[in-house]
Amino acid sequence: MTGAGLLLQGGTVFDGLGSPGRVADVAVADGLVVAVGGDPPAGLRRIDCRDRYVAPGFVDTHAHSDLVHLLEAPQPFKLLQGVTTEVVGNCGLSFAPLDAASAAVAAELWSGLAAGVPIEPSGFGTLAERLDRAGPANNLAMLVGHGTLRLVANGLDERLRPGAAERMAALAAEAFEAGAVGLSTGLIYVPGSYADTEELVALARVAAGHGGTYATHLRDEGAHLEAALDEAVTIARAAGARLQVSHCKAAGRAAHGTGPMLLERLGAARLEGVDAQGDQYPYDAGATVLSSLLPPAVAAGGTGAMLARLRDPAARAALRAQAERGGVGDGGWALAGPADVLLTGHADAGLVGRTLAEAAGGRDPWDALCDLVAEDPAATIVIRLMREDDVRAIMASPLIGVGSDSLAPTGLEHPRTWGCFPRLLGRYVREEQVLTWEQAIRKATWLGARQFRLDGRGLLAEGAVADLCVFDPATVGHAGTYLDPDVPVTGIDHVVLAGDLVVEHGQYTGRRAGRVLRLAALGGR
Ligand SMILES: [Zn+2]
Repeated sequence: MTGAGLLLQGGTVFDGLGSPGRVADVAVADGLVVAVGGDPPAGLRRIDCRDRYVAPGFVDTHAHSDLVHLLEAPQPFKLLQGVTTEVVGNCGLSFAPLDAASAAVAAELWSGLAAGVPIEPSGFGTLAERLDRAGPANNLAMLVGHGTLRLVANGLDERLRPGAAERMAALAAEAFEAGAVGLSTGLIYVPGSYADTEELVALARVAAGHGGTYATHLRDEGAHLEAALDEAVTIARAAGARLQVSHCKAAGRAAHGTGPMLLERLGAARLEGVDAQGDQYPYDAGATVLSSLLPPAVAAGGTGAMLARLRDPAARAALRAQAERGGVGDGGWALAGPADVLLTGHADAGLVGRTLAEAAGGRDPWDALCDLVAEDPAATIVIRLMREDDVRAIMASPLIGVGSDSLAPTGLEHPRTWGCFPRLLGRYVREEQVLTWEQAIRKATWLGARQFRLDGRGLLAEGAVADLCVFDPATVGHAGTYLDPDVPVTGIDHVVLAGDLVVEHGQYTGRRAGRVLRLAALGGR
């Protein structure tokens, strides 16, 4: 319950829409913002916010923390960054719907994302209810993943079986009826990478018909970025869906300098009537599965077939020839060198924290890669892909919001998992002035809430849901690095979730006040 209500006194208030801050008291009662400035109702608990900024709670539009919130202990790693809502189920990977056969395959492919929570057969609505009952630390909005739908309907076959397209559409419709806020694709990952444009248009149409967004990890983020963006825009236009381009970047040496092109393409799409925007994490490295360096064809037919290929010298050599071409669908090998790949999760714990070059020892790095994937197909990496001028150009655009792309907050993860939002504010606003405070806050709040139709959230105004973040502009930040990522954030003082004080003086209060935000419950479109 929300108790007596709160009065956040004397802070500089940002509305999330991009307006400059102004000093005002914010009154919260019954889970809502009831006054900004003016005379507050009596009897509210006062919180001193002088010298602090008061913003809407941050909306993380790109997370993979779906199952993290089923762990027994509450997981406040996002709340401690000021994040009150995460959009999960990204990159084509949702953990429902799954039947017995597809759950077994998903467990082999995606256990690295699951925080040790078993990947089990489940309907989409059933998983949403489980998460709701578990009491997530923050709110969750769920996407249904195309890769997941394809696993259920078609296994790991490349070509669609008769009836598989219809099955995927029916399962997607069920997910939207259960409250999914959009459809995600991950077009470099198996099995999503096997889909052609037409297959994706059909499913994006189902999303659009329910008011959902099309969120995509593009088919290529490197040398073929432009063609991949064109495909995304084509899909959104044909389906009539809003478009969210996930983790916008110019990846790999061949693509460096193309950040401005990405922004031009998004802008051009908007002029053509497609509601296109994107998100970004403020770092020069990404994180993914080690197997994504291989051509996705390696996994055709299932894990057994993949292991056989990886152990066969002739198949290995053929895969290498394909990988070195670096074309669309050839995997990520050509994007970065073995010294740029840091192993963050592997069945052989002794390899964690070493680069692929180090792990190879005397072996050829390609052979080492094939061995390491064969030993653990779910192994994870951090990979240096981006150039700083592209990161900044993309960040400066008003079309690009914030998505951490976080995985589970365990082990050696990318520092974005613990510090994405404070880093944006500390490094890129206070220190480097790439953005103003009001621009950065708008990107971290309203921009994402709007694109996923999280009505009443992402803004600070009378009548809005009281999801709020109070931070110190002089100290907000995160000092995590790729080798020492999970250090505490600084400067996030208080976080309010629907009127509940869930972080107080930088400490999590233990309240499990989050819930699953369902599109239907939000009024659809
Ligand atoms: Zn992705």
